[in-house]
Amino acid sequence: MTIDQQVRKTLKEQGAETPEKIQELFAGVGATMASERQALVDRGAADQGERERLAKELRDRWLARKSGLVSSIDECWLKKAPRELKPAVGRAFNELRKASAELAVDALLKAIPLRSEPKLQGKTAVAGKGPAPQAAGADLTLPGRRRLLGSVHPVTQVMREIEDIFLGLGFSIESGPEIESVYYNFEALNIPESHPARDDWDTLYVDSQTLLRTHTSPVQIRAMEKHGAPLHIICPGKCYRHDNPDSTHATMFHQVEGLAVDRDISFADLKGTLDFFARKFFGEKIQTNFFPSFFPFTEPSGDLAISCVFCDGKGCRVCKESGWVEVMGCGMVHPEVLRHGGIDPAEYSGWAFGLGVERFAMMKYDINDIQLFHQGDVRFLEQF
Ligand SMILES: [Zn+2]
Repeated sequence: MTIDQQVRKTLKEQGAETPEKIQELFAGVGATMASERQALVDRGAADQGERERLAKELRDRWLARKSGLVSSIDECWLKKAPRELKPAVGRAFNELRKASAELAVDALLKAIPLRSEPKLQGKTAVAGKGPAPQAAGADLTLPGRRRLLGSVHPVTQVMREIEDIFLGLGFSIESGPEIESVYYNFEALNIPESHPARDDWDTLYVDSQTLLRTHTSPVQIRAMEKHGAPLHIICPGKCYRHDNPDSTHATMFHQVEGLAVDRDISFADLKGTLDFFARKFFGEKIQTNFFPSFFPFTEPSGDLAISCVFCDGKGCRVCKESGWVEVMGCGMVHPEVLRHGGIDPAEYSGWAFGLGVERFAMMKYDINDIQLFHQGDVRFLEQF
């Protein structure tokens, strides 16, 4: 079976039904990826044009969003994995995704040599005397032209980091539309038109029934309708609010929503998961604390606070001398919300959370103004 056929079959169809078999399968994929890359590096390219073409071809083969091999593995292996194997598959998939950074076009362009290069470099390096060799009239002793490389935006970096932690826990990623209906954004989440809580979201309306989503929570309903229970998902994405821009508010920002629905899910599962997540993200020393709060779509609701990363919980200006910083809202999914998602609250329960990615990035990198993320100032962005 070729790798192209293999990634389109589910784990079950390939008889990979234990964590050991899965390890083996992923090791095989990793080895194929490495050997395809090595083949390009060994062969080299005749000129810059060919180098760019080869790099792009290999990148697309593995990393194309729709039909790349890594996407197929996500679709056919990870998403279709039975629940008990999800953590093992998630972990192995994560490793593979990390290793696949080697196939980024930039990385490949650096790695694939031009066929004329190694020979000449070798000779000058060893001989080290006499005139520099000339090829086709070019002076090879001149420094090459440097291409300026961009970097991944800090918000994207933090979002990927959060995604990786939850993928490792067996969650999968869902997305939904940014232009959303009033029903999904409010009503299905237990916020009817008359509810005073609707005023808390400064909403940008497209027309009376359509709006720019004010949070990623509507994806919860869409995912419940689509997949039913049990369900373990996170939904990263953009949100919009009619806020006056200042150092902590922006009209566009990113959230990551989390939702777990299963039989016998309790607040203890929520606490355990978020405590694990906070320590993975902010460091093992971090302590967590849950405070009661209110959201229309969860009951009971809470705010997760972590011990202040700036003063280690001793008390400083950032944590207002309390030693704790609130980082996200969470709670047990309201039965009415489960019903709107087509799930019977008598049989299933669930928990959910929502966090602001910019806020996490600001805490992680000690940034004091959210506007910096959206100004496109290269002097700021190239620090990441
Ligand atoms: Zn502090």
